[in-house]
Amino acid sequence: MVDDCIFCKIRDGEIPSEILHRDDHCFAIRDIAPAAPTHLLVIPLEHFTFLQGMTPEFHPTLDAMFTAARDLAAAEGIVGSGYRLTINQGADAGQAVDHLHLHVLGGKPLGPVG
Ligand code: AMP
Repeated sequence: MVDDCIFCKIRDGEIPSEILHRDDHCFAIRDIAPAAPTHLLVIPLEHFTFLQGMTPEFHPTLDAMFTAARDLAAAEGIVGSGYRLTINQGADAGQAVDHLHLHVLGGKPLGPVG
């Protein structure tokens, strides 16, 4: 547990949230301030801030995150219409929560990136 990390607290059940998916590597929740009709967050169980911390031994975690995102997009019914996966990293990207997470966005035209 990293002190004051919202996503660590959700992972540990200290902050209630509907867990849409959980496996040995990651879990998924709905974003509290959705930017699209589907806006999910896929979050590694281990607290990483940056992809740089995900050295090769953690590549199974990356695999699990993308697999979960793919399967959740299918469950949300947005594969045909399309969806976007986003990872914000650092200040210029506007990363607000320093526990790495993968946004899954879809259900409306999302416009150009940036
Ligand atoms: P980022 O800017 O990439 O760090 O995104 C952080 C995301 O976490 C934002 O889209 C927030 O709306 C979302 N968020 C913050 N707190 C919660 C929470 N308690 N439950 C679900 N989503 C949250």
